[in-house]
Amino acid sequence: MPTGRGRLQALVGGRGRRPRRIAMLSVHTSPLHQPGTGDAGGMNVYIVELAKRLADLDIEVEVFTRAASSDDAPTVQLAPGVLVRHVTAGPYEGLVKEDLPAQLCAFTHGVLRTEAGHRPGHYDLVHSHYWLSGHVGWLAAERWGVPLVHTMHTMAKVKNAALADGDSPEPAARVIGETQVVEAADRLIANTAEEADELARHYAALPGQLAVVHPGVNLDVFRPGDQRAARARLGLPQDAAVLLFAGRIQPLKAPDVLLKAVAELLAREPGLRERLVVPVVGGPSGTGLARPESLHKLAAQLGISDVVRFHPPVGQQVLAEWYRAATALVMPSHSESFGLVALEAQACGTPVVAAAVGGLPVAVRDAVTGTLVHGHRPEAWAEALRPYVTDRALVARRGAAAARHAARFGWDAAAAATAEVYAGAMAGRGAGRLRFA
Ligand code: UDP
Repeated sequence: MPTGRGRLQALVGGRGRRPRRIAMLSVHTSPLHQPGTGDAGGMNVYIVELAKRLADLDIEVEVFTRAASSDDAPTVQLAPGVLVRHVTAGPYEGLVKEDLPAQLCAFTHGVLRTEAGHRPGHYDLVHSHYWLSGHVGWLAAERWGVPLVHTMHTMAKVKNAALADGDSPEPAARVIGETQVVEAADRLIANTAEEADELARHYAALPGQLAVVHPGVNLDVFRPGDQRAARARLGLPQDAAVLLFAGRIQPLKAPDVLLKAVAELLAREPGLRERLVVPVVGGPSGTGLARPESLHKLAAQLGISDVVRFHPPVGQQVLAEWYRAATALVMPSHSESFGLVALEAQACGTPVVAAAVGGLPVAVRDAVTGTLVHGHRPEAWAEALRPYVTDRALVARRGAAAARHAARFGWDAAAAATAEVYAGAMAGRGAGRLRFA
């Protein structure tokens, strides 16, 4: 197998020009932030992993993100071939994501100024992430005469169609903004075929714009390991049934459904209480920030505070230990564009009980690597969780299948497919619309 540029050339079959350097835009959250709380989650991990693997393919990546602290150096080398550029746009602290549309001109100014400091043609392509970055990319790509590739990560119309009870909808301004980005982009990268359909259905994306690239999982970090050792390190009892929730704590992720299901399970079989541990690893985020204590309160109301343990977000290596320690990972989300934690847990040999929404039916194979649950009724979730608490052989079988399944989702494959999308965009191949006509 050729390496580096030779490998990329082989992958794209020498068609069209290949990017040497790209501008990656991540306005509202930095690849340097700790995921699992606030605005940092799967998209941060996605950008870090994708950028590193693109650099391995000899595509240099410069990630532009908003400076959120006076400590942020103007540039930070994330990895060989991956540079993070902090752009000053508004005050460092005190701005929330909802304030950022007002800072997009300032951010774009910073991006254009950086490019102007180089020779023309410094960037071959712009890849923007999330709609806010799409707006910056729209202008930058047109100004530089290069293609715009965009990844949505989440979409307002999709989120709003699956809101948790009482959760606030995404504003109309975001829907309009997303529609404009879809109109402007040469290529839209969707995580799954379902997301591609949603882009077409809700945002009128054209078939020639759409490319499906499954995200990956870092198989060096997330790999099966010794459960006993992991439990010892994390202070978990060796004989426990550990039902883990990991991720940003917000109504959309529905950790409340897990707690209600656990209460239901314990009401049916009180004897399980001795053995059941439910760690919640992550911090408040999104609309969950308004009431950060609500999940603690719910655990108390349900009478399961002795079973549920809250832990702040952790780095990827420690998170891998949590997955190894768990009997099953539980993801009751109302909406999920992919759900990286489902892949990560499976890569560690842990089965996943997940809602059958968004990308989760791609990430989890029902009755093989875990269980897919339809709807959010606690009774149905209690039913789905029960075998994982009581049947060790099933857990072992599904855990082994999970590790095999997740091994197919390496980031190398995701980066190679993304590089192919870039090459196609640069050649204008199969484009549904011509931007420069
Ligand atoms: N994560 C982490 N530490 C934590 C909890 C989560 O690093 O304590 C990471 C996790 O590894 C995953 C990401 O946060 O890659 C969450 O991604 P996912 O796609 O599951 O959800 P999103 O945040 O995109 O909604």
